[in-house]
Amino acid sequence: MSQPNTLPTVKLLIGGELVESTTREWRDIVNPATQEILARVPFATEAEMNAAVASAKEAFKTWRKTPIGVRSRIFLKYQQLIREHMKELAAILTAEQGKTLPDAEGDVFRGLEVVEHAAGIGNLQLGELANNVATGVDTYTLLQPLGVCAGITPFNFPAMIPLWMFPMAIATGNTFVLKPSEQDPMVTMRLAELAMEAGVPPGVLNVIHGGADAVNMICDHPDIKAVSFVGSTRVGTHVYNRASQAGKRVQCMMGAKNHGIILPDAHKEQTLNNLVGAAFGAAGQRCMALSVLILVGEAQSWLPDLVAKAKTLKVNAGVEDATDLGPVVSCSALERIHSLIERGVAEGAELALDGRKPQVAGYEKGNFIAPTIFSGVTAEMSIYREEIFGPVLCVMQVDSLDEAIALINANPNGNGTALFTRSGAAARHFQEEIDVGQVGINVPIPVPVPMFSFTGSRGSKLGDLGPYGKQVVQFYTQTKTVIQRWFDENEVGGPVNTTINL
Ligand code: NAD
Repeated sequence: MSQPNTLPTVKLLIGGELVESTTREWRDIVNPATQEILARVPFATEAEMNAAVASAKEAFKTWRKTPIGVRSRIFLKYQQLIREHMKELAAILTAEQGKTLPDAEGDVFRGLEVVEHAAGIGNLQLGELANNVATGVDTYTLLQPLGVCAGITPFNFPAMIPLWMFPMAIATGNTFVLKPSEQDPMVTMRLAELAMEAGVPPGVLNVIHGGADAVNMICDHPDIKAVSFVGSTRVGTHVYNRASQAGKRVQCMMGAKNHGIILPDAHKEQTLNNLVGAAFGAAGQRCMALSVLILVGEAQSWLPDLVAKAKTLKVNAGVEDATDLGPVVSCSALERIHSLIERGVAEGAELALDGRKPQVAGYEKGNFIAPTIFSGVTAEMSIYREEIFGPVLCVMQVDSLDEAIALINANPNGNGTALFTRSGAAARHFQEEIDVGQVGINVPIPVPVPMFSFTGSRGSKLGDLGPYGKQVVQFYTQTKTVIQRWFDENEVGGPVNTTINL
């Protein structure tokens, strides 16, 4: 951390204004392909964080009563603006995060789909009504917004994950305080600016920057009613405990170790192509990356073909054409991945493909690591137990589908998994027996589109309701049940006693 200088600074968004922070704590935002410092991000002061919450609280008074059509039209406009700025958003994202430009557009696009879904809020935030639950009595439900909600996001999808959160929170009538990753907040800020341009009123969306202090403020602040978190298991568990303790509704989507199973009857070419994309794409920095591969029976002989395919992937800066893997996000992330690879070797796994220190002409300072494959991995090894979050695939060998299922079910994480087979019976058996929240059948990264919800499970999630889709409407609203009875002019009045009538 250093003092601000002449570099561009990332602003806070408070009460509809882009505000220069008065903090003395700043962090550099670094291009991971070049180490160029792009801008500085402030760690907001306590007064600034409180001002953001206060502005959201004030805006809630009117926003909560804003008609559905008005809310919906803002998101119709917003999706149009995001489309128009797609290239610009992707370029910012690639510069600060490292992923390839097509992948960056994908990051924005998956968020855009949630914005489109938010525009249909009129069909989503609907209560229920039961007529004549007792004589002359009807019961109905209202799904009412909670108040100020907050979101804390990770570095790996700096467009998609903020867009998982604030559009649906705001569309349901809440106001929002967002705390993006301090590693790559620039694309998130551009998205926040476009939201303002689309007509989100001042104070309805606020953005603060920072690290642990900002997160703890969100957990503790009495005016924040609900917290959505996406990030590592360590931080997510802390956020869940601390914010729940403070009486808030909390949902935490956390770390993963996603297994793919290959049965020998799978379509070999398709499966291997899918696998290298899912294991090494985005340099393995996806919470749904397939980071463990279980080869069953005769499929164990596919390893050399897998290694050969992985070798063909091109490592380069995300802005260069035909790049398959960009750099990882930071020098410290690269060091961590290298040290886990060393531990894998020391613990006896076989390094079938060593991607350390690739030569990338013109980007010699970048945080690059090429696809790396370990085989003969066992459940006790550190490379299996820890989320590596880099382009490192652990290959395990077993004799049967049931053995593979048992292995996955014994792993503490439950984010995603996939089976590759041509057998419908095997696929159905897998679907029934596997204890993981998101299941792919010949689909390597089974992330649901926004009419469904993201449904990671077990150690990958705390809280019952997932982001976006129908579940998040429940998460961001309080159900109020109204039991109603009206009297005719001529009806003889008496005490309403629904208990007796029921
Ligand atoms: P992270 O947990 O380090 O950071 C997430 C957020 O927490 C950031 O905003 C950060 O500022 C804040 N934070 C960091 N340290 C903190 C601390 N000590 N106290 C309080 N707050 C703190 O995660 P990351 O490295 O940015 O992202 C990668 C992780 O996110 C991986 O584990 C990945 O699996 C996970 N992830 C999960 C999902 C999912 O849907 N399950 C999606 C994307 C990423």
